[in-house]
Amino acid sequence: MIFAKPSSEKEAVSLLSNSNGISRILGGGTDVLVQMRSGIIEPDLIVDIKNIPGIREIKELSCGYEIGAAVSGSEFNNYPGLKEFAPGIAEAFDLIGSSQIQGRCTLAGNICNASPAADTTPALSVSKSRVKILGPKGLREDLVSNIPISPGKNSLKKGEFIKSIIIPNRPQYSSDSYIRFTPRSEMDIAVVSAACFITLDQKKLIKELNISLGAVAPLVVNVAGINELFKNNTLTDDLLSQISVICSNSCDPIDDKRGTIEFRSHVAGVLAKRAVILAHKRAGDKVEKVTN
Ligand SMILES: Cc1cc2nc3c(=O)[nH]c(=O)nc-3n(C[C@H](O)[C@H](O)[C@H](O)COP(=O)(O)OP(=O)(O)OC[C@H]3O[C@@H](n4cnc5c(N)ncnc54)[C@H](O)[C@@H]3O)c2cc1C
Repeated sequence: MIFAKPSSEKEAVSLLSNSNGISRILGGGTDVLVQMRSGIIEPDLIVDIKNIPGIREIKELSCGYEIGAAVSGSEFNNYPGLKEFAPGIAEAFDLIGSSQIQGRCTLAGNICNASPAADTTPALSVSKSRVKILGPKGLREDLVSNIPISPGKNSLKKGEFIKSIIIPNRPQYSSDSYIRFTPRSEMDIAVVSAACFITLDQKKLIKELNISLGAVAPLVVNVAGINELFKNNTLTDDLLSQISVICSNSCDPIDDKRGTIEFRSHVAGVLAKRAVILAHKRAGDKVEKVTN
């Protein structure tokens, strides 16, 4: 096994492009090391990206926030203003593991590990967050939701790695939320999760509404049609009930000891409704701050 710690993007791409066999990126290592120790994988090459300049930085750009691929959960959540900017993404990231895991885990690792139960993937997908990918052909961008392609598999090509995650700027009265159901309150993975992104106008009419569900299908479910159905409406109980039904019907979950198909589908509807109420409250508070 070769372990490499490149000090430039170019060197990392070259190492990954010229490797034979199985290669893995070492971000926080909170998935890779567990998989190695339990014998699930035996990489031929491990590339620790943390020495690459800029990869542990958070930047405020005119188009939003750029989060370096090796920024940890605790670095993200302690960065001034980020929790206020994207509370849903912050609460999803903060749910991963314990304090020890928080000091290591990254968004890029969570996305690329491609677990259907990953917490940050739905939270990032719902606001159309993107990843910057470096590879032998240079730099390209893609939506976070296009990275996982099946459980444990991602769409990155040979030689590629994620350099950063872009959380795009939001219209003025927007917010997001993320809620998950776990049997235990800590140190557990989602049985079902729901993320919501909402934009309101000054009269609190819905201008954009996106919902993503986690752990209820092999990939994150970006619930189709929600925005078109409810745009220009006020959020009422009737509308929330409709959202709940649509979300439950959008699930394609597995049946296992952690939850049956019926249970997961039902809970997805309940969580989606709660996530919408929470994001709506956050966006509505912004309207009131300006109009009062
Ligand atoms: C005790 C414990 C509790 C956990 N709890 C949760 C939880 O509640 N919710 C949850 O979602 N997950 C949980 N996890 C899983 C894990 O912590 C997360 O998935 C984490 O975000 C992975 O990030 P990482 O940087 O440690 O990834 P790594 O282990 O470094 O890498 C994971 C995968 O992503 C790839 N990768 C990493 N970085 C890049 C990059 N920049 N470009 C391309 N590919 C990359 C690697 O090749 C590897 O395949 C838990 C893990 C442990 C050990």
